[in-house]
Amino acid sequence: MENQMTVIFNAVTENEAFARNTVAAFCVSLDPTIDQINDIKTAVSEAVTNCIVHAYPNKSADNKITITATVTDQSVHIVVSDNGIGIDDVNSAMQPFYTTKPEQERSGMGFTVMESFMDSLSVTPNTPTGTVVSMSKTIRGADWKEKKR
Ligand code: ATP
Ligand code: MG
Repeated sequence: MENQMTVIFNAVTENEAFARNTVAAFCVSLDPTIDQINDIKTAVSEAVTNCIVHAYPNKSADNKITITATVTDQSVHIVVSDNGIGIDDVNSAMQPFYTTKPEQERSGMGFTVMESFMDSLSVTPNTPTGTVVSMSKTIRGADWKEKKR
């Protein structure tokens, strides 16, 4: 059966560890390997860091990040969204080494990391403003139920 959780928290650096550990804890019912958990933590960390660094140029307590995680029998689906400035050119933003903040020693590898650590990644505009990052990962292969029997 499907299981889902949503957390909403301020877009501040202090909450990055909270976010990645919360999603990781929620995935435990899937019995993931350490490697799989680390992949999920890394992907969530990159997505949340992007909201903190890029989405909200002006500091405000209203700057929020929302994460919804859904686990099914086999996989986890994670949606990280913000209501910030959004991304003008998503295709460019997703290219390796593309960054709009080179002066802050950003390497432009966040989306590339998310893509390689998860099975799927999509980046779309949020309504009315902001960005939605959706990613999924299969934790147990299709043969899992067979093996368990
Ligand atoms: P790194 O992740 O390696 O530190 P980066 O954050 O610049 O560098 P990506 O994570 O790949 O690289 O993001 C690429 C670009 O997409 C960013 O430079 C920024 O312009 C834009 N971007 C990413 N996420 C958001 C967001 N949530 N809101 C607005 N712009 C974003
Ligand atoms: Mg980034």
